[in-house]
Amino acid sequence: MKYFSLNNKSHQVNFETAVIQGLAPDRGLYFPEKIPALDPAFIANLHQFSDHEIGYRVISPFIGDEIEEKELRKIIADTLSFPFPVQKVTGQTFALELFHGPTLAFKDVGARFMAGCLGYFRRNSKEPVTVLVATSGDTGGAVASGFYDVPGVEVVILYPSKKVSQLQEKQLTTLGKNIHALEIEGTFDDCQQLVKTAFLDQELQQKRALTSANSINVARWLPQMFYYFLAYKQMKAAHPKLIFSVPSGNFGNICAGMMAAAMGLPVSHFVAATNVNDTVPRFMETGKYDPHSAVPTLSNAMDVADPSNFVRILELFGNSLPSLQAKLSSYSFTDAETSVAMEKVWKEHHYMLDPHGAVGYLGLQQYLQDHPELTGIFLETAHPVKFEDTAPKSIRDEIYTPAKVASLYYKEKQATLLPTDYNTFKNWLMQ
Ligand SMILES: *Cc1c(COP(=O)(O)O)cnc(C)c1O
Repeated sequence: MKYFSLNNKSHQVNFETAVIQGLAPDRGLYFPEKIPALDPAFIANLHQFSDHEIGYRVISPFIGDEIEEKELRKIIADTLSFPFPVQKVTGQTFALELFHGPTLAFKDVGARFMAGCLGYFRRNSKEPVTVLVATSGDTGGAVASGFYDVPGVEVVILYPSKKVSQLQEKQLTTLGKNIHALEIEGTFDDCQQLVKTAFLDQELQQKRALTSANSINVARWLPQMFYYFLAYKQMKAAHPKLIFSVPSGNFGNICAGMMAAAMGLPVSHFVAATNVNDTVPRFMETGKYDPHSAVPTLSNAMDVADPSNFVRILELFGNSLPSLQAKLSSYSFTDAETSVAMEKVWKEHHYMLDPHGAVGYLGLQQYLQDHPELTGIFLETAHPVKFEDTAPKSIRDEIYTPAKVASLYYKEKQATLLPTDYNTFKNWLMQ
């Protein structure tokens, strides 16, 4: 499979190059030259296949022979090494729980898959590669965990100071070894800007081979398709026409779902639910893409004003707003609405939402109001314990702390505080 830059279709590379570069030299995102169609018989009989086999059939057309089958199957087994249960919340509303991995958020899937691919591609090289990643919260922890102790890979994580939860900060600042955390005195968009600028800096690149582990990287983006298939596998017999509501920030997760649908997964509609960082909901209504600056919210992993992956979604729909509108609705919700939903769902259905899942839940409810005959799944993208600090007081004590995170609170944070200016950051990297 070849991948082209969304800024220039004639610039084409293979999967390995797309993974190692992250972003094309012209700053475009990579996109597959064609969308493989899955065998309808496979989809119809999904329940007969193991999760790992489903993963292999879904991803292998995007990789071709660039990773040996045996190795690719191993990477998939390491990626899908925890469950992805669909839980009923109310009559027509189900939660796809994506938080059973090592850092309790869906980003474990993409991070583990990418670590496997990068480890494979670098298996014979002597120069270490530096993975540079900006995080709004969960990416950092997932990348730190996925890449921890991978030989030949150094990881540098940039996160916005005081804008991630205590647990998130612990997850990305306490590992040590090949994992380095930079606390940036700015927003997630500032962190992302620093990373993007570094990738264009020839002088820096000569000193240090850089790659990205943000959701712009195809090796993080594409494996996120897996769990849409796994959800369908669990639901299929009962509910053939599904809606997915995805709490969205950088729009990588929902874009993977839409790619799964383009490959043949039967999904009747998608909902992109956002917090008040509502660039996409406004775009869907007006056709004008007009990002404001990012505003901090309770669902901080979605505090993104200018979502990188949205151009991929546009590409999937031939840049036609009407075709996109036929398949996607997008709504935004305030923090007040989010908190009320968390309290209400706990009191009425005894299901604990995290603030991101709550936004997804609200998006689904809004769509179902006009489509009462349908059944929907919202993605519960993180475990509620990750956002315990900001959960409504009335339910905070009910949040369950899994044993694997309890010990983190005692570990010491190791991070370097830096301003948002590029040169300071560059000097740090050059040393
Ligand atoms: C990253 C993240 C999101 C947003 O996902 P995108 O792919 O950036 O849209 C939502 N919820 C949680 C918990 C996250 O960590």
